[in-house]
Amino acid sequence: MHRLHHAHTDEVEDPHSPHNSDGFWAMMLDTRNSYRNIFIGKTIVDDKYRVNLPEWKAFDKIAHNWITRLVWVGIYTALYIHFATAWWQYIFLPFTIALGTVQGAVVNWWAHKFGYENYKLSNTSKNILPVDVLFWGEAYHNNHHKHPARPDNAVKWFEFDAAYFVMRGMYKLRIIEMKKILPLRSAISIVKKPILKTM
Ligand SMILES: [Zn+2]
Ligand SMILES: [Zn+2]
Repeated sequence: MHRLHHAHTDEVEDPHSPHNSDGFWAMMLDTRNSYRNIFIGKTIVDDKYRVNLPEWKAFDKIAHNWITRLVWVGIYTALYIHFATAWWQYIFLPFTIALGTVQGAVVNWWAHKFGYENYKLSNTSKNILPVDVLFWGEAYHNNHHKHPARPDNAVKWFEFDAAYFVMRGMYKLRIIEMKKILPLRSAISIVKKPILKTM
């Protein structure tokens, strides 16, 4: 789905575009449906978008079902019960439960509507926050559309991709493999080994 978004940004084939849906919630629902249709095989995606796509069937089986979702809801609720010091803090519980979905939808919506551009591209991608304190580097969506395979989304001196630091740590611990490790915003050096592949 994400590769389709890159190949057809803002066009009718874009699986999540604010320019294809009537509002934020409609886009969220459209995203959910296009994701689900690909997952269950109702939408057949062209082979060229599937090259090197990691297939983790065992992981999907565990992660993609209602029991697991309910376990997560239970874990979040237990954490609130343990740590909350006032009743109103529970207002944030539904938001915490849906955070992944909300974060994805906010980026997909906002980053194709409002923000600044480092690169003039043939699509509407924007960087939504100059200092990304909310989205761990995903706010730099215009940078990401320009360099989709670059693990560090930050380009300008004031931009900061926190997720890239985590990736570097995971790379050092040999949990993930990176084809390139960028010495922060500059030259590229090639590295060899580890275990999982990232784009
Ligand atoms: Zn995009
Ligand atoms: Zn991407």
